[in-house]
Amino acid sequence: MAERSDRGIIHPITQVLARLSRPEQLRVLNTHPLFTGKCPCCGTSVPLSKFPPISWDCHQCGWLDEQASIAS
Ligand SMILES: [Zn+2]
Repeated sequence: MAERSDRGIIHPITQVLARLSRPEQLRVLNTHPLFTGKCPCCGTSVPLSKFPPISWDCHQCGWLDEQASIAS
């Protein structure tokens, strides 16, 4: 559900982050593969070019991007 604004396309995770408290924002920033480049569950590296636009899941361990699913 990417939206266009003055700043371009907004990833859904940024909308989720905007609703979280500061500590929760930091937790997401430190764990989400969109920011870390690797799966928070098994640590598999994820090339940024392979991220789909809305959500992400790990094909190694089955981890799902719960943050993005909450936003949709
Ligand atoms: Zn994984």
